[in-house]
Amino acid sequence: MDLAFKSIKEILTLIKEKKVSSKEVWDYFLQRNEKYNKEIWAFLNIWLKDFEEKEGSPLAGIPLGIKDIYCEKWIPTSGASKMLENFVPPYDATVISRLNEAGINSLWKLNMDEFAMGSSGENSAFWNTINPHGTGRIPGWSSSGSAAAVAAWLCPAALGTDTGGSLRQPASMCGVVGFRPGYGRNSRYGVMPMASSFDCPGTITRTVEDAALLYEIMNGEDALEQTTIPGKDTIDSKIWNTQDLKWKKIGIPKEYFEEGLDDGVRKSIEEAIEKLKELGAEIIEVSLPMTKYAIAAYYIIVPAEVSTNLARLDGIRYGHNSEVPREWLEELYLNNRGEWLGDEAIRRSILGSYVLSAGFYDAYYKKASQIRTLIIEDFEKAFKEVDIIVSPVSPSVAWKIGDKSEDPLKMYLADAYTIPASLAGLPGMSLPCGFAQSEESKAEALPVGIQLLAPRMHEQELLEIAGVYERATAWREKMIPKGFEV
Ligand code: GLN
Repeated sequence: MDLAFKSIKEILTLIKEKKVSSKEVWDYFLQRNEKYNKEIWAFLNIWLKDFEEKEGSPLAGIPLGIKDIYCEKWIPTSGASKMLENFVPPYDATVISRLNEAGINSLWKLNMDEFAMGSSGENSAFWNTINPHGTGRIPGWSSSGSAAAVAAWLCPAALGTDTGGSLRQPASMCGVVGFRPGYGRNSRYGVMPMASSFDCPGTITRTVEDAALLYEIMNGEDALEQTTIPGKDTIDSKIWNTQDLKWKKIGIPKEYFEEGLDDGVRKSIEEAIEKLKELGAEIIEVSLPMTKYAIAAYYIIVPAEVSTNLARLDGIRYGHNSEVPREWLEELYLNNRGEWLGDEAIRRSILGSYVLSAGFYDAYYKKASQIRTLIIEDFEKAFKEVDIIVSPVSPSVAWKIGDKSEDPLKMYLADAYTIPASLAGLPGMSLPCGFAQSEESKAEALPVGIQLLAPRMHEQELLEIAGVYERATAWREKMIPKGFEV
């Protein structure tokens, strides 16, 4: 049975028709991992639980790759950090228990940037994951292992998290679908926190329908997590029959097409917008004037939250304890944290403590929070006119490993198009929409993704529009990386 690059829905149909058993599906993906993981280094480790036959459950037989940030009972989880290399959680994250009940078999653990901080996957304490579409190129940030694994077909779908774009950007660079539901839809309980008012658990899949399928199981109120939205969101299956976009109004934010956007990416996005128009949508230019302040605000608020969240990693409550002899308590903290945390984690802890300190709080943190409110208002205003907003995901295609790693500021600028929606907590998706060459080397054509953003609580509308575009184009079939076909 040929399972290559099938969607979860297609695999489930094959299982139902008894053309393949769930054990065969499991073994197929283990073999693919055996063969290909050493080419892209997406999985840090394959932690095998015994295969469980969960007949009758909606996702029975589906192996799901899991980013190394989700806790599952007794499965080592490190956040790709040396600090937590030996950490074994004694409980399940809420979304993991929901998915387990629905019948998945989890494949552990996918590489990522340390505690999800980064724009290229190069901040993992272990190794760099490689984009299966390019030679020596980054897979994108920080759910890097998740996007690379689904792109190279090491698992049919994977869990990731999106704080400032970490599902959308790697999905765009690896040619797969990255879906971040709005903030509060998926419980963060048991997911290692980066910036608590931003973090959104979500998925990397090959199709929009698969994203919806996992979302329906994962989302919903959680008594263990107070920021979850009450109730549960369900998706009307009729949306998959919609064939055109008549009556839909799609906003194009003019600030997202100014300088800094590579020509190849611009061309792919413009073609995609043309396609949306052909499908019947009314295209309307909108303005999000506060966009220019988004990176500055994000890189103040996020480090503030990071410094608070990482404070627990002191070697006493969590993490490694240094062997170096010490006289004072401060020395113990300095040794433990200095030895085991990576550069970016330390940089953000220092920056975060600074912007929260008594003398600078008003000048930095408070100001950035005010900008955050203005960005939310920008979106609210635009969504009075349009149903969804469409834009590029990333200013460029995947760059070469090492190209930006020495310059954190250059790296932060790559987040320009995903961060505003993160500040506003909006649902967003990256959907494959073409190939482009990178500016520095014309040798390879690399995947480009288009970003779709919806108002809060409008995930269904986003999925519907994304589904129409996906079915009307052939990008899904074209996004199979060379050398990984069988
Ligand atoms: N690049 C962004 C950052 O480093 C986003 C990371 C994320 O979404 N996890 O903060």
